[in-house]
Amino acid sequence: MTSTSHGFVIVGASLAGAKAAETLRKEGFAGRVTLIGDELHRPYERPPLSKGYLLGSAERESVFVHPATWYAEHDVDLRLGTRATAVDARGHEVHLADGDPLRYAALLLATGSEPVRLTIPGADLDGVRYLRRLEDSEALKAAFAEVGRVVVIGGGWIGLEVAAAARTAGLAVTVLEAAALPLLRVLGPEVARVFADLHREHGVDLRCGVHVERILGAGGRVTGVELGGGEVVGADLVVVGVGIRPNTALAQGAGLAVENGVLVDAHLRTSDPDVYAAGDVANAFHPFLERRLRVEHWANAMRQGPVAARSMLGQDATYARLPYFFTDQYDLGMEYNGYAGAEDRVVLRGDVAGREFIAFWLAEGRVLAGMGVNIWDTTADVTKLITSRREVDLGRLANPDVPLRDV
Ligand SMILES: Cc1cc2nc3c(=O)[nH]c(=O)nc-3n(C[C@H](O)[C@H](O)[C@H](O)COP(=O)(O)OP(=O)(O)OC[C@H]3O[C@@H](n4cnc5c(N)ncnc54)[C@H](O)[C@@H]3O)c2cc1C
Repeated sequence: MTSTSHGFVIVGASLAGAKAAETLRKEGFAGRVTLIGDELHRPYERPPLSKGYLLGSAERESVFVHPATWYAEHDVDLRLGTRATAVDARGHEVHLADGDPLRYAALLLATGSEPVRLTIPGADLDGVRYLRRLEDSEALKAAFAEVGRVVVIGGGWIGLEVAAAARTAGLAVTVLEAAALPLLRVLGPEVARVFADLHREHGVDLRCGVHVERILGAGGRVTGVELGGGEVVGADLVVVGVGIRPNTALAQGAGLAVENGVLVDAHLRTSDPDVYAAGDVANAFHPFLERRLRVEHWANAMRQGPVAARSMLGQDATYARLPYFFTDQYDLGMEYNGYAGAEDRVVLRGDVAGREFIAFWLAEGRVLAGMGVNIWDTTADVTKLITSRREVDLGRLANPDVPLRDV
């Protein structure tokens, strides 16, 4: 860390950025902290945007990371509606779309990610929507009250949560997924099928293995989606959830190492010693998994922000938490811990048909990841199983009567 006379600058006023600012103050840093965000709202959490807030069961105020007064109270210079346009890493300056450049002693890039946009014909019609920001959620909620038929393109987490919210709002919902099952790549066939069944039981017309050819419209408004083969699915509203891409433009422009996100070490430091990255945008070396990982989940942003802040303060902070994420769809709640992908086996424990079970992904008898479906407080036990790297007894692992610590 260099002299702190120029203070710390954080670009990206969302979860990772806000948590970093909070930690700088908690750790007693008394210098200048500037938090720059191009959105008009103070930092908020996105998970409710496709769940409680979209459903109308969560209040607007509940989505914000801090109360409105927190930033002034903690002397954090929160600049909303402000876009950082470039980083001059050598000169230690952040350039803004409006206003003078900001000098920094250390800089945190917490620029997150944004939805991948469709480029097929019709993608720019009215009624084709994405969900990333508070306004998107509010616009979707308003649209739910006006339309009858929703087509969701993409059966990933966002797509499925939107489908659940739209069904709960009483709309006719079709989900179009290119793979053979929704979430197939993340969960594998056994567990992905649980989500497919869940949505079909709730009346979603889930079409897998389909190719979206183009979006059709009349008078500039969407009327349907044409599939490969020519079939048309009627739609008044199309919600696209086909993935996100990290906002790496600033890092790239600054000459930092970028590859599927901003490359950072376990201290969340980039290839420039005074620039850090955290949250969705960071492709961080994970000491336990011994590989780089870019995680697009809430807990990662919430926990990496503080680690980056401590590193900026010159502390020996390392990010080694296992990935964690959750979803809520209808009456299914799920928590996932760990990182699968190299598994050679999946073990299911509990009542899969009744959707009350834990799924484990294993390689060579060792647990890589565990996911509790409508079973709570499994994080500590699952994490211990993973981090112990010990071989488990598969029969005992599958038996809900055997405590997880004894498998
Ligand atoms: C609808 C929705 C539902 C979700 N549900 C879940 C869930 O159930 N469980 C889960 O684990 N995760 C969920 N997530 C993912 C989670 O919200 C993200 O992982 C988290 O928001 C990442 O936080 P972040 O601070 O890294 O980045 P972001 O939240 O993406 O914030 C980055 C901020 O930086 C701003 N910015 C970017 N570039 C600039 C610039 N040049 N100048 C100024 N500002 C800039 C952006 O506008 C944005 O405000 C969900 C996401 C969405 C969109």
